[in-house]
Amino acid sequence: MWMLCQTNDELKEFVMEAKKCTKKGKVADYIPSLGKANPEDLSIAIHYPNGNCVEAGDIEKKFTLQSISKVISLALVLMDRGTDYVFERVGMEPTGDPFNSIAKLETMAPAKPLNPMINAGALVVTHMIKGNSVEERFQRLLSFVQELVNDTNISFCEEVARSEFKTSNLNRALVYFLKQHNIIDEDVEPLIDLYTKQCAIEMNCYDLSKIGLVFAMDGVDPETGKRIMPIDIARICKTFMVTCGMYNASGEFAIKVGIPSKSGVSGGIMGAVPGRFGIGIFGPALDDKGNSIAGIKLLELLSQNYHLSMF
Ligand code: GLN
Repeated sequence: MWMLCQTNDELKEFVMEAKKCTKKGKVADYIPSLGKANPEDLSIAIHYPNGNCVEAGDIEKKFTLQSISKVISLALVLMDRGTDYVFERVGMEPTGDPFNSIAKLETMAPAKPLNPMINAGALVVTHMIKGNSVEERFQRLLSFVQELVNDTNISFCEEVARSEFKTSNLNRALVYFLKQHNIIDEDVEPLIDLYTKQCAIEMNCYDLSKIGLVFAMDGVDPETGKRIMPIDIARICKTFMVTCGMYNASGEFAIKVGIPSKSGVSGGIMGAVPGRFGIGIFGPALDDKGNSIAGIKLLELLSQNYHLSMF
């Protein structure tokens, strides 16, 4: 088996190379608070099952999960409701459309969202999180994230949540549409409140690489030996990461990188190399599909140099 970078210095060289393309990217500003990120940032942590972690860049810097949270809420909801219930309400197919597109909802019958990684599907998933109030549902999700990272200090960024809540007109439109088609049956504002808090869950690359590792190890935290989710749910999540994890760039990414991954518009990417290690990346300059431009470049370099593709 090919060994991945064993030293921070080795990894730093790849980061320096990938960093060159941050100039071609742009930070997301449709959520105003994300616009404050430094487009030149790029950091990575690679977490091995034996607890070793190789890192480069400012891996202490925190960022919000945004769409990366969609894989985590999916895992929780699959545990809460079971696969039949969940997939009656959200599909399993990639879209080829941007993550926030409403187009397919109108042209497909039934209007159920195509997959849980696009906003429409993720909103349905968040709707299915069990609990008696937004607070209780959010607490359950946050506790699950804390369990994945094995750190009870993980929290969310109120400023980013508020900033998205104020500007979520498109996501509100998706929820109204899904309510009309009886796929969602709660009020729009509490759901947007819960969803924006979910997206604003905050951590650094090291923490994110830890979550990637749990997925890579089929739902077990190798450091504690604890099973955090059933193997089947970890498998479903990783499959969605391959088919839909990088939005409408997932096909090209599967060919060039071949690592189950999920990105978010904050510039985060979580990778899970099956059976081997977890990856956490933060690089807020995005390409035109909303993926971290230098993060993708970095994964391409690593995948090619160390033969990481699972295909
Ligand atoms: N919170 C973001 C949104 O709903 C997440 C999108 C993303 O990361 N692609 O627009």
